[in-house]
Amino acid sequence: MRKRILTGERPTGPLHLGHYVGSLANRVKLQEQYDTFIIVADVQALTTNFDRPERLSEDVRRAALDNIAAGLDPEKVVMFVQSLVPGIAELTVFFSMLVTVNRLRHNPTIKSEAATLGYTDLTYGFLGYPVSQAADILFCRADLVPVGEDQLPHIEMARFVAGRFNELYGRIFPEPEALVSRIPRLVGTDGSAKMSKSIGNCIYLSDPPAEVREKVMSAVTDPARIHKTDPGHPEICTIAAYHRAFDPEESPSVEESCRAGTTGCVACKKRMVEVLEALLSPIRERSTLYEKPGVIDEILIEGTRKACREAEETLEMVRGAMRIDYFKGRSR
Ligand code: ATP
Ligand code: MG
Repeated sequence: MRKRILTGERPTGPLHLGHYVGSLANRVKLQEQYDTFIIVADVQALTTNFDRPERLSEDVRRAALDNIAAGLDPEKVVMFVQSLVPGIAELTVFFSMLVTVNRLRHNPTIKSEAATLGYTDLTYGFLGYPVSQAADILFCRADLVPVGEDQLPHIEMARFVAGRFNELYGRIFPEPEALVSRIPRLVGTDGSAKMSKSIGNCIYLSDPPAEVREKVMSAVTDPARIHKTDPGHPEICTIAAYHRAFDPEESPSVEESCRAGTTGCVACKKRMVEVLEALLSPIRERSTLYEKPGVIDEILIEGTRKACREAEETLEMVRGAMRIDYFKGRSR
């Protein structure tokens, strides 16, 4: 049997090049090798956006469309909406008995995210989202979870919950393993922080060509380089980072001619526009194909149906193991 992967996003806006290098590109490869479940984690989006749910319906579809446009094949993967799989919510409740508040309060990712968001008095939902994430992973009994290093504590949590459940009630869950991506975070076009929606320094997969061009041409490069013949410093240049990420073969020679002062920033940026166009134009084409009304909805409805079947299978085992299958065999 093929191993299973669970991965996905919080639908909080369109996906950008950072998502592409950080996870999507890898996801597209992994779908060939593993049974892949892609979660559109709308409940998790609500942990921080519960007071402004009005964007969710658009963002859910956008996340799904961007994934498919990037190369995920809806025939190969199960793409589903978290809130529409009741078994995940049910598992979250059962798992919440196995995790102490102190364990959650000491979770380094929770701590750093709470600090970034300026949260001092955490909601139960935000503090507990690693438990809900354990349910996201375990409802389909995933073996592997591709993550960035910052997400490792959450995989630890899922392993802890699986282990504790198995020990208490009987072996049902695999202890999922992280497939860690060590790709460095892609820098934003401002050159000062990682590419991130909330900073507004992103090139989105759905940006039209003129916008990509405009963003690249105005991206921050090496501030010390004023004249074309000044020697450049690719190690601090945004465009050089993009060459490393999107044009790895040519990147060494690009850096060399930058250091030597033989290629100027404008030429280097024009080249990057071409590289990105080569990447983004097939993505745009697939996007046009799938953005016709109803197409994404059908994919999500079908994926959610499959996810619900998986969840129900798991929950039946869970209720049996926990001895709460009181009326087994009778419809509930
Ligand atoms: P926000 O600004 O709302 O936090 P974001 O643009 O930073 O949004 P997230 O939803 O926080 O995007 O990112 C989800 C995941 O996507 C991250 O855990 C990481 O794996 C990947 N990712 C996001 N930004 C980058 C980036 N700049 N480089 C590489 N990977 C990234
Ligand atoms: Mg972020």
